[in-house]
Order: sequence, then C-alpha cells, then structure tokens
Amino acid sequence: MTFHVLTIFPEFFRGPFDYGVVGRAVKAGRIRIRIHDLRSWTADRHKTVDDRPFGGGEGMVLKPEPIFAAAEEIFPARSERQKIVLLSAQGRLFRQRTAMELSEMDEILLICGRYEGVDERVAEHLADEELSIGDYVLSGGELAAAVVIDVVSRLAPGVLGNRRSALAESFAGDGLLDCPQYTRPAEFRGWKVPEVLLSGNHAEIRRWRRAAALEKTARNRPELLEGTAGAAATESKD
Ligand code: SAM
Repeated sequence: MTFHVLTIFPEFFRGPFDYGVVGRAVKAGRIRIRIHDLRSWTADRHKTVDDRPFGGGEGMVLKPEPIFAAAEEIFPARSERQKIVLLSAQGRLFRQRTAMELSEMDEILLICGRYEGVDERVAEHLADEELSIGDYVLSGGELAAAVVIDVVSRLAPGVLGNRRSALAESFAGDGLLDCPQYTRPAEFRGWKVPEVLLSGNHAEIRRWRRAAALEKTARNRPELLEGTAGAAATESKD
C-alpha cells in the first residue's frame, strides 16, 4: 500500500515513519510513503500556494490550482482502490473503523492544509472525503496525515506480525477499550498485579480481561458502551 502526502512542509516528515512498526513496514517494502512538495506544482517565480480569502477575513487560504494539478499527476487514472483525503477540522471523524476502510485501498493521497485552510473546491470536487482526527484545530494537516498513516499502516496486510493483535486492541471487534496490561515485577512499590494474571488459568484470565476492559470503558469512555456491541457486552456481563 502506498501513501502520498501533499504538503508545503515536506521536511516535516523526516523522522516520524522511521521507527517501530511503521519503520519496519517501510523497510520491508510492505508500505511506501511518498512526500510531495505542493510548491512543485506552482507556475510562478514565488511558488505561490496561497491567497487571501474572498469576502475578507484573517489569514490565507491554500489555492486550488496546485492541489488539483498535483493530485491529477499523482493519480493520472483514478481507480476505486485509490482515495484522496483532505485533512480538515471540518471533516468526518477519523476512527479505527475509518482506518479499517482505508486499509483496503492500494493508494491514499493525503492533502495537508495550512493557514486558514484549503479552498473549498478541493473538498467539493477533488477529495473523496474530508477527515478530522479530533475536535480541535491543528495548525496544519501534517500531524493529522502522520496519524492517519500510522493507524492505517498497522492494519495493512503483513505489517503487524500477528493480525489478531490488531483485532484485540481498543476500538476493534466489540468496540471496547483494551484491557489493562501488566509486566514484571509482580509487585512494584507495594502495588500488586491482579492475582488471576499469575494463575496460568487461561479461561479465568480471559474472563478477568473482559470484565476489566468493560470497567475501563465505562470509566473512561462510557459513550462507547451505548453502541450495539457495547450494550450487548454489558448485557452478557449482567
Ligand atoms: N479555519 C479552519 C477551521 O476552523 O476549520 C482551520 C484551519 S487549520 C489552522 C489549518 C489546517 O490544519 C487545515 O486546513 C487542516 O488541513 C489541518 N487541521 C486542523 N485541524 C485538523 C483536525 N482536527 N484534523 C485534521 N486536520 C486538521
């Protein structure tokens, strides 16, 4: 799977994909990440990518022409297995299930906004979708693109050694948070690891993990229990 990132700050991406699971996936050739400098698609001497907003107001807006030109060169013939995503605070919320959908793609182009945002014609006539990584405003789409690449890469075939590990994580399967994990020492500063985890009784450990995941979800993210899966999970516990 290939990720393309369109940005005015290509240097931003030096580093974030060099480590851990994603770094290994890049080295093994399971995913490819291509960073494109938006200014390469400008025609003027100053490599202008932005202009003042029509109607007045603060700041600058990224112009449509270089973004359309870049996207049309990066994806000269569109296919259903390619997706163009505009990172935007006004987008649909990016969730684990959005990442699952995106992991089915062969190529994803992520367009990073800056300043006051991107000319709306990009959202209307170029991007397949607008995605937001959360209800807050970043100063640019680059961090959001890095988040999307990290999350989607882990779901791409062959990236996590054991695909089951992605299915057993927070938000996967029944939509609950993951259960708490402990490692050695069994006692640290007087705080003991739950006895059942040391028992070797796998059925008991499974039951404890399920209950602990439900308890943690109820405490930190109660709204996740309102969905069908969460409600069913609570009922089966009662
Ligand atoms: N004026 C815009 C608004 O209020 O919705 C915010 C523009 S923001 C300063 C500049 C760029 O950062 C956006 O074009 C977008 O690419 C990116 N960005 C900001 N918040 C984001 C979020 N929550 N998720 C994804 N991208 C975001």
